[in-house]
Amino acid sequence: MKKGLLVILSGPSGVGKGTIRKELMEKYPQLNLHYSISMTTREPRAQEIDGIDYFFVDRPTFEQNIKDGKFLEYQSFVGNYYGTPKEYVSNLLNNGINVLLEIEVNGAKQVMSNFVGDNIVSIFLTASIEEIKKRITSRRTESPIIIEERLNKAKSEFCACKYYDFVVCNNKLDVTTKEIADIIEDKIYSLNNNNK
Ligand code: 5GP
Repeated sequence: MKKGLLVILSGPSGVGKGTIRKELMEKYPQLNLHYSISMTTREPRAQEIDGIDYFFVDRPTFEQNIKDGKFLEYQSFVGNYYGTPKEYVSNLLNNGINVLLEIEVNGAKQVMSNFVGDNIVSIFLTASIEEIKKRITSRRTESPIIIEERLNKAKSEFCACKYYDFVVCNNKLDVTTKEIADIIEDKIYSLNNNNK
């Protein structure tokens, strides 16, 4: 059976990955994207639901999952762990289902260097630091110290864009989403035609 496509949507925290991901899933059902829900030790924000936004766990549980080799990749990000479930993602891909990972840059680099196969596409979403600051501050979910840490982290992450297949600037929600949908659609098309 033809494998599904692994789509990595990455970029600095606050760049708008989550919004674009939701828009992609909602407006482009024809892409058949299945979102991989990560595990994290971060506290849930108001509105976030366990098992939908993340699997929220404590540190010992996360560390046990590391020991058990359960992650495709995991990272510590501003004091918390985040990880992608390995078996879940590989089962979906093996069953021909396209999978979307929305992850930060170090985890994305790990996946890009370890993944075997051509059924992968990586997209780096970017925006100006002013725009990122505005987004992180306006969601009012983080303390000033964490905001500062996330901004410093974002500044250091811009140069990672060179590792990705595509770099997309997040200017306008519908335009950016379409640009990303087109990239995914083209990749699916070329995989289907190469495998004929
Ligand atoms: P947040 O706390 O804002 O939800 O996420 C912080 C950062 O971690 C974001 O850049 C988000 O995309 C990233 N992230 C979410 N899940 C994962 C994951 O499973 N692995 C990695 N490496 N990063 C993740």
